Formats: sequence, C-alpha cells, structure tokens
Amino acid sequence: MADNKEFDPLKQAFLDAFPNPDRVGCPDQKTLKAIGRKHLPLNHPAQIHVSGCSPCFKEVLEYQAQWQTNRRRTHILLAVAGLLSIAALAKWWETKIYNVPTQTVASHVALPSPQKRVIPEVATLVALNFHQIARQRGADAVRVEKAQHIPARLVTLNITLPIGSDDGQYQVEIRTRDNQVFKRASGSSRIENGNTVLTVPNLELSSIPAGHYLLFFHHADASWRHASILIDEPPSDLKGHQ
Ligand SMILES: [Zn+2]
Repeated sequence: MADNKEFDPLKQAFLDAFPNPDRVGCPDQKTLKAIGRKHLPLNHPAQIHVSGCSPCFKEVLEYQAQWQTNRRRTHILLAVAGLLSIAALAKWWETKIYNVPTQTVASHVALPSPQKRVIPEVATLVALNFHQIARQRGADAVRVEKAQHIPARLVTLNITLPIGSDDGQYQVEIRTRDNQVFKRASGSSRIENGNTVLTVPNLELSSIPAGHYLLFFHHADASWRHASILIDEPPSDLKGHQ
C-alpha cells in the first residue's frame, strides 16, 4: 500500500510522543505481531497499551509492514500458480483433443517404471481408413484395393468407415481369403467430423499368422462389408514402420 511510504504526521507524532525506554507494561512480541496482523480486537488491552507506548507502536508498524509484504507476495504466488495451472490444463486439453493418430501405426508407450521390469501389454492403436471402399453386393464380392497393415499383436482398431455408414454397434470378423473366420469382435462407432469412426478395442492378434486377410464389418441394420488387410509380423520398432 502506498500509505506506508507517505509521510504521516500523526504516525510520526505517535512514534515520539510516548517514550517507554524500560518497556513498562509492554505486551510480548507474539501479541504485538497479532496486532500488526489485525488479529486482535480494537478494545483488547494490548491495543490500548500500544496506543500509549511509542516503542510498541513502532514494533506494531514493522510487523504490519512485514505482514502486508508477505500477503502481497502470497497473492502474487497464488496468481502465478493459477496461471500455470490454467496453462497446464489448456495443454492437457489440447493434447486430448488433437492428438488423434492418422494413418500411421501409433503405439501407447508405457513409461518405464523403476519397480516394474515387466511392461504391461497395452493395445497398439491402429488407424485404418476404409473411407474409400465402395458398397459391395454380398460377402463374396472381393474388391482389389490396397491392403491396410495391422501388426500381429494386441491392437485397438480405429476404423474410418465408408461414407454414409451408420453409427452404433458393429460386429467385426477377420477372415482368411477362403472365408474362414479367424477372429470375431465387436465395437461401436461414432460420427467424428463427418466421418463414421469404428473403434474395436483390445483385439488380440498375436496368434494370427502374418499374411493377407479380409476384415468384415457390419452394422445391425446393414449387410456385411469388408476390406483387405495385411497382418504384419509385430515390428520390434514401430517408429520405423510404414
Ligand atoms: Zn509498550
């Protein structure tokens, strides 16, 4: 507060008016501090003493100045902490909203922890794009299109379905070229930016031999459709992949 620095004649008068060199009847330091911090009521006996004792009055002014400085510092720290947590929150939100993998194979990397040598198996997130596959007539119609890669391991598939696909529950099957069902799963889809994205969580493909397969999918209200996929040997380093 600016009034600390301004010359106050009344204050100055008080500082000299009641000398008490032997500190007769002075309250202890704790009480004077409490007065400086405005923790004592005005009618407290110590307050009445201070109003007639220049040395005590001087001490109270010093405690008051210290207290105000600390309080100001605390307010600044709280404001900075507030700004930092807002920034952290914004960063977290941004990561959550925009960190959606596109066509590449991304993996959820488990942070190495000192106690745990065994890294728990976390599903590798694989984004597939079936946006371009045309509507097929029956399950027999095999179209030639570029097979999309899936590593032979525990995966969570994020499949962008063909234009106009419904959202909701889907059944998924991985079949061999001669129509043997290798794996059945289910997932749910939602509309994201105009695309229907089907998520099939925790699909265990580590036992599936590498090679060409067909990924069949169907919504309750629609017929089976499919796209070519290529199951790869699980790469040791996913970063160099594709
Ligand atoms: Zn005193």
